[in-house]
Amino acid sequence: MSQTLEERSKKVVTPVLPKYGTTEIVRGDGVYLFGSDGKKYLDFGSGIGVVNTGHCHPKVVKAAKEQIDLLIHACIHVSWYPPYVQLAERLAEIVPSLGMAFFTNSGTESVEAAIKLARYVTHRPAIIAFQGAFHGRTLGAASVTGNAKLRRHYEPLLPAVYHTPYPKCFCCSFGQKRESCHLECYQALENLLDTVVHPQEVAAILIEPIMGEGGYYIAPDEFLKKIRLLSDKHEILLIVDEVQSGIGRTGKMFAWQHIVGFTPDAMTLAKALGSGFPIGALLARPEVMRKWEMGAHGSTFGGNPVSCAAALATLDVIQNESLLENARSIGSSLYEMLVELKAKDQRIGDVRGRGMMLAIEFTKSDGAPDMELAKKVIREAEARGLIVIGGGLYGNVVRIIPPLILTREQAEKGFTILSDSIQAVL
Ligand code: PLP
Repeated sequence: MSQTLEERSKKVVTPVLPKYGTTEIVRGDGVYLFGSDGKKYLDFGSGIGVVNTGHCHPKVVKAAKEQIDLLIHACIHVSWYPPYVQLAERLAEIVPSLGMAFFTNSGTESVEAAIKLARYVTHRPAIIAFQGAFHGRTLGAASVTGNAKLRRHYEPLLPAVYHTPYPKCFCCSFGQKRESCHLECYQALENLLDTVVHPQEVAAILIEPIMGEGGYYIAPDEFLKKIRLLSDKHEILLIVDEVQSGIGRTGKMFAWQHIVGFTPDAMTLAKALGSGFPIGALLARPEVMRKWEMGAHGSTFGGNPVSCAAALATLDVIQNESLLENARSIGSSLYEMLVELKAKDQRIGDVRGRGMMLAIEFTKSDGAPDMELAKKVIREAEARGLIVIGGGLYGNVVRIIPPLILTREQAEKGFTILSDSIQAVL
């Protein structure tokens, strides 16, 4: 019998890559993936939050194919080409306050660019980030990541990076409950500025409005608003990392847009921006971007013509096919189903999320994270034809992030498989 891809990979592919599933996928279409064994899978993982428009959306495919026939690469340092500028214009239309763009190839690179921009324009060294956060894998992005497992053996990382507790309301770092919360996490940040790093040393505060890899915790509006005021007071750049939560995932184009009256100074994007074509972006207020002098940063591939064309088509699809509305309405039905499930199963400590960025957190009877159960659920669901992925600092979260084109019927079908899978595993 011929070997599986997993078996073959053992000889030639680095073992460093962590994996949630074991499926061999050969084709994708809408919300479905098709295995080499002929099996059809409902995809509630979207390639980790990437194919928000669905797999191989015909309009994205068409735009990319047309661009391939015209021009695959030019390099923005050598020539201007239309898709780069068109995409920058389009994003500036969508979010005028962050009206200048720098394009990258990934989320990590967008974060790396954000760190460099912040240091360059403020002439300050320090970056404040959050415990539990994930911002990527390069040494700069790993430095702002707040997960010890991902930092291990890579120290010394970037100096002058300070981590403070994220508002994880389900498992508050200060042991608080929502009813008695005094935003101790915000006080901790203020305390950091009083005791460890002077605010005028701080170039940027970098935060995920909804923590992604760390477990889909939603930062309360009040917390983010206070950070906005604090940043204004000390002329610190407030940078939101929307690599996972952006491009419609939460039912708004960007998760921070759920907060009335809140605007960041810069934002990182990637993942869903190109519907699977590698592209990321750093957007910032033009007056900030203008201080980043020519040659201080750059990229050979960043904003590749094909990826930019795919990104333009992605934004068209999201807007023309009402995917934000769909993410909100089908997402809230899915959330309601999860709430009902939680009421029936004590192993579910929490369900949470916004739009189609949803999660289940599994806990043991003493409240400790139950990573084994989350893993079993993911494997059982995969065997039953549903792809979901893990998450959380302790691996005890199951993420539910389907393409935003999901129909009600598909949502119900996926939920049924998920809830049957949870019941089937002990
Ligand atoms: N920032 C956030 C919030 C992410 O979720 C991720 C990836 O999961 C990254 C940055 C890194 O993105 P990439 O894997 O494209 O480098």
